[in-house]
Amino acid sequence: MPLLPIITLPDEKTLRQVSKPVSMVDSNVKRRWDDMLETMYHAPGIGLAAIQIGVPERLLVLDLSKDGEPKTPLFVANPEITWESAAQSDYEEGCLSIPDYYEMVTRPAEIKLRYLDRQGEPQEIHATGLLATCLQHEIDHLNGILFIDHISRLKRERVLKKFQKAQKLGKL
Ligand code: ZN
Repeated sequence: MPLLPIITLPDEKTLRQVSKPVSMVDSNVKRRWDDMLETMYHAPGIGLAAIQIGVPERLLVLDLSKDGEPKTPLFVANPEITWESAAQSDYEEGCLSIPDYYEMVTRPAEIKLRYLDRQGEPQEIHATGLLATCLQHEIDHLNGILFIDHISRLKRERVLKKFQKAQKLGKL
């Protein structure tokens, strides 16, 4: 399984794409998930969307297990949020596509999610806490949305400029 390069800012052309549903969970999808998971573990990160490796398909991998604990990978295809709580929660978010930048983001504290699992079976889960936040962050990626879209415009423009400048200076 190859490790894949992760697309980062300032490549908004890729990261702003809206990803397409997969027609079924076949061996290609499973191979993609495996590559994404290896790439995410190596980064290291707790969630990765396919568009972050340049593939506009509605596929995610997540793993919220802590260091030293057994791995608990979650494979998600074609996710749909069917309910979100009125209650909100704040988490300091980061993103493998926006390295070394963290900011508080407010999102619904709980969601219900429908998706296809690794066997291609439909699942519905009620996610809370960090899992709810992480799923919303990753599903945003499938819609071309980045977590910096949830913060103030001033802060967002400052981050975008920082990455554009770094690219110009050949530091990316
Ligand atoms: Zn992200």
